[in-house]
Amino acid sequence: MKRDYTLSEEQEQIRQLARDFAENELRPRAAEWDRKAEFHGEILPLMAELGFFGMLLPEEYDGLGLGMLDYLVALEQIAWGDASVAITMSVHNSLPTQMILKYGNEEQKKKWLPPMARGELLGAFSLSEAGSGSDAASLQAKAERDGDGWVLNGEKMWVTNGGEAELLLVMLRTDSAGERRGARGIGAFIIPTDTPGYEVGKKEDKTGLRSSETVSVAFNDCRVGPEALLGDPDKGFVYALSSLEGGRLGVGAQALGIAEAAFDHTVKYAGERRQFGRAIKDFQGLAFKIADMSTRIEASRGLLYRAARAWDAGRGDMRLSSMTKLYASETAVWVTSQAINIFGGYGFMKEYPVEKLFRDAKVTEIYEGTSEIQRTVITRTLYQEQVKD
Ligand SMILES: Cc1cc2nc3c(=O)[nH]c(=O)nc-3n(C[C@H](O)[C@H](O)[C@H](O)COP(=O)(O)OP(=O)(O)OC[C@H]3O[C@@H](n4cnc5c(N)ncnc54)[C@H](O)[C@@H]3O)c2cc1C
Repeated sequence: MKRDYTLSEEQEQIRQLARDFAENELRPRAAEWDRKAEFHGEILPLMAELGFFGMLLPEEYDGLGLGMLDYLVALEQIAWGDASVAITMSVHNSLPTQMILKYGNEEQKKKWLPPMARGELLGAFSLSEAGSGSDAASLQAKAERDGDGWVLNGEKMWVTNGGEAELLLVMLRTDSAGERRGARGIGAFIIPTDTPGYEVGKKEDKTGLRSSETVSVAFNDCRVGPEALLGDPDKGFVYALSSLEGGRLGVGAQALGIAEAAFDHTVKYAGERRQFGRAIKDFQGLAFKIADMSTRIEASRGLLYRAARAWDAGRGDMRLSSMTKLYASETAVWVTSQAINIFGGYGFMKEYPVEKLFRDAKVTEIYEGTSEIQRTVITRTLYQEQVKD
């Protein structure tokens, strides 16, 4: 791995630590986890020891107090090792922990953040439902007042880490009395997953990210106290959207790591595989493809690091997050698809590593907002800015 001159010495060290971990601990296990669709729980204690679950949390809550770029540089390398492990880390670091940090009261922060930072509690985030994905504000699962607490009912879909997490950050409709539909009237709740009435449902059988758990969850008269509510009962959707801005950078880093892994395998293979008496890299058609793969990966990295630096400077920007996620995810799908072509028939075989990378890449175009939704955000914010000017 060559030094990246845009990173500080400390960031280089973080990158190297994560790369060594990915190379030694993830790469040797990833294919088997994928084949068995088995959750990679065995590796999480080691990741916790290395601090990977508290990178963005302040030291006062037992986190490492690092910045967004430091975190993304590590996440990119974890994704290079195994994209399923990367999404476990990404959801935990970007969504539930950040929502509690930003919108929780001091009691909630002191209770939940230190064990989450130490990796003793795994977090999950639940916005989607069967009928509401891109149009997340139309969600129906509800939280109704019950004395000074709440009673929760309804079903949520596609919860990453859901079956394994000890804590769920869930968005529920709180306006059932007033029937004010839409983005207002949604609350965010912190739910320990051992609360009676909380049930984990079906585990999805997925195309890719097969060692990441994706489940449905149901609330059946699940009663929680007032301490479960995060901030304002009407603003959970706003909190979720603002956290997804950082989450999308996490997906960008994940996509970049997948693309890099496919590229590394491709460069090696194209240098070794011979047809018509020469290495296939020497055919101009393939040489051009390799050049394009490399260029798109560097462009993804440029966007990602720029967005992360803007974030660290307090100038995080929803448009830049969307552009990063959009470009990096489409690059990952394109690069992994080209990698299969360059591997020829071997690329289509499970014995070789690139077909898994292709399967893992695809979902980066879908979750935390599809490519169409990212394009919508980019254009909408662009016009909003023009109106302001
Ligand atoms: C593996 C996996 C893990 C996930 N993990 C989580 C999780 O942890 N927590 C969570 O809350 N959710 C999670 N999700 C859900 C994910 O965020 C949604 O799948 C995603 O937001 C898309 O919603 P949908 O699947 O309902 O598609 P739909 O919203 O039904 O979209 C279908 C198609 O219509 C297009 N479309 C929709 N609206 C528009 C529009 N306005 N303009 C143009 N095109 C549009 C979409 O781009 C897409 O092509 C996960 C999903 C997957 C696959």
